[in-house]
Amino acid sequence: MTTISILGKTNVGKSTLFNNLLKKKYSIISAKKNTTIRCIVNIKNDKKTHQILIDTPGPIIRNTLQAYNTNKFIYDTIVKTHVLIIVIDTIHLKTDDFFILDLIKNQNKTKILIINKIDKIKNKIWLLPFIEKIKTFSKFDHIIPISNTKNINIENLSKILDQYNFKNSYDQIHLPESKYNFAKDLIRETLLTKLNKEIPYTTQINIETPNLNEETTHLAIKITTQNINQKKIIIGKNGQKIKQIMNDINTKISKLYKNIKNIKTTIHHSKTGKK
Ligand code: GDP
Ligand code: MG
Repeated sequence: MTTISILGKTNVGKSTLFNNLLKKKYSIISAKKNTTIRCIVNIKNDKKTHQILIDTPGPIIRNTLQAYNTNKFIYDTIVKTHVLIIVIDTIHLKTDDFFILDLIKNQNKTKILIINKIDKIKNKIWLLPFIEKIKTFSKFDHIIPISNTKNINIENLSKILDQYNFKNSYDQIHLPESKYNFAKDLIRETLLTKLNKEIPYTTQINIETPNLNEETTHLAIKITTQNINQKKIIIGKNGQKIKQIMNDINTKISKLYKNIKNIKTTIHHSKTGKK
């Protein structure tokens, strides 16, 4: 099992690259800051080995608990990962880029530097001197200019990643738990897209099924809104909204856990805790 993580400042295109590599839309893409939720997915390649690809949020340079948790998640991910993909936006480096570059500098791991959005670089003459300069910063195994939007070098990167298959890896990422969190993220993503962001992030999503695993056939989801009005919005007129939401959740979850046949969702509001 090889773990590969995508790191970098907010808005450099990490989630877009993540999605492009998977060719499936598994992570929220947004131009807004810090909307990336940690995502872990299995990729099966031709050789039937496993790779885990991790999308991370950008660091937050502030003295808050959220910043601490985000930055700790980034650091923990770096420690657990075999292959580090560091994404930068064109050739302009800012404080947040150096935060990541400093974190990975002395890590003894495979490092791939991705210069994204090269479609935006008008004068490509600066690219080569920049690459020479960044080489002095850390030992990168590969430095690859790409464009997600113009589909430049994505295929090449994908091929390079296929080469990294570590058999006796230290499998520190607890996969069932990560997958469980990922399932919750997928449910939240569905709510966000189907409800036009009417339902704030305060809505709680719980998976009630104990020991969710590959053999699980029945899944119970509990959605808790802050008040009855939010609950009514989720249910919709004649239950139409919740029906659409459930269809979407069914499709996504059954891709993740192949044996799930039945998903039951209950909606609560936290004021009384009643259904
Ligand atoms: P993240 O915060 O690093 O995960 O960044 P996102 O993947 O959410 O992308 C941030 C913004 O950059 C989005 O508006 C993307 O459409 C845009 N973007 C991503 N890749 C490219 C690229 O190759 N070229 C250009 N011009 N824009 C890109
Ligand atoms: Mg992102």
